[in-house]
Amino acid sequence: MLIEHINRRLLELDAAALRRRLRTAESPCAPLQSFEGEHGGEPLLAFCSNDYLGLAHHPALIEAMAEGARRWGTGSGASHLVSGHMRPHAQVEELIARWFAPHIPHARALLLGSGFEANLALTTALGDGSATLFCDKLNHASLIDGARLAEGEVKRYAHGRLDVLAQQLTACTTPIKLIVTDAVFSMDGDIADLPGLLKLAEAHDAWLILDDAHGLGVLGESGHGSVEHFGLRSERLICMGTLGKAAGVSGAFVAAHPAIIEWLIQKARSFIYTTASSPALAHTLLASLRLIESPEGRARRARLLGLIEQLRTGLRALVDVQPGWKLCESHTAIQPLVVGDNDTALSLSTALRRRGLYVPAIRPPTVPVGTARLRITLSAAHTPAQVEQLLLALAQVMGETT
Ligand SMILES: *Cc1c(COP(=O)(O)O)cnc(C)c1O
Repeated sequence: MLIEHINRRLLELDAAALRRRLRTAESPCAPLQSFEGEHGGEPLLAFCSNDYLGLAHHPALIEAMAEGARRWGTGSGASHLVSGHMRPHAQVEELIARWFAPHIPHARALLLGSGFEANLALTTALGDGSATLFCDKLNHASLIDGARLAEGEVKRYAHGRLDVLAQQLTACTTPIKLIVTDAVFSMDGDIADLPGLLKLAEAHDAWLILDDAHGLGVLGESGHGSVEHFGLRSERLICMGTLGKAAGVSGAFVAAHPAIIEWLIQKARSFIYTTASSPALAHTLLASLRLIESPEGRARRARLLGLIEQLRTGLRALVDVQPGWKLCESHTAIQPLVVGDNDTALSLSTALRRRGLYVPAIRPPTVPVGTARLRITLSAAHTPAQVEQLLLALAQVMGETT
């Protein structure tokens, strides 16, 4: 019965061009990456990873991982509150706290296993029965699910509509108010109006929970992310960042007022009831975070910015001659080409793959119906010639598929 039910639902997904497929990579994360059964085993030129600085297979980090494993072993053996919290985890937290000290007075940081876990931790531990969570409608799935799990009331506001949010805040009567937003939106690449949101938080005695999964490492002079980009400073900032994207490893953190961190340690079930990440990972993260703020990190950010500009210039020329397609207002490494319907997005992606390029088609429910897109992401590891190759291929497949 269950299997027949599932098979029926799978056919519906097929009919709507919404079936997803699990690909197995046969080589490390890099602009040229090969996948099982794709392109005759030859590497594809990929524009799909969140490895924005090209650190996921950086020799220094590979070395740090090996050294971390030799010194600390491969496993933590227990949850953080039992015996799994090791020196490398604490060092990462101290370094992150230093990063955020200019932005959050007395900042303290907590390391978690993943961004998904960190968002569940924040929304459930802070969003109790006395709280209202105000969420941007385009927030990441982990924040949406976290809000569902929270005991507090949840209000959603249309993407970026601070006027709507202000009305909701004014009407709110719960003692605790939490504004919850992606700092860089993962499917559009646009940056939230964080100064405006912080002003609202201050005016309404609310707190601002920021998910900087796509800003950390990329934005800000030192790569400290969107709060550095805007030069924000407030006790009301609660910053979450992920460490598997630009940082090239895995994990996530929350940086906030010390009382908030202490409360997460007491109450956040996705922190408490899970095994602490490998100490070798934490040791690697230390090397990665230091690299991000080093001159090499700066050079990588500068290279990435150059590629973003090159790509946007080329894409603008393409959408100008293709009615119905549009670019997003993005100055980050996420550069979606919105084409509208699922079939078009899918057939473009397939046509590109035939030419040896991998750009994923993103369809509902990940994005709103009617806004299917190619989600192009850039990395400092790409070359200008590779970006040029993508633009040429796009121009060619445009002619074939429309
Ligand atoms: C990727 C992502 C997450 C989840 O982080 P993981 O560490 O991959 O679990 C959370 N929020 C946003 C906006 C993301 O893009």
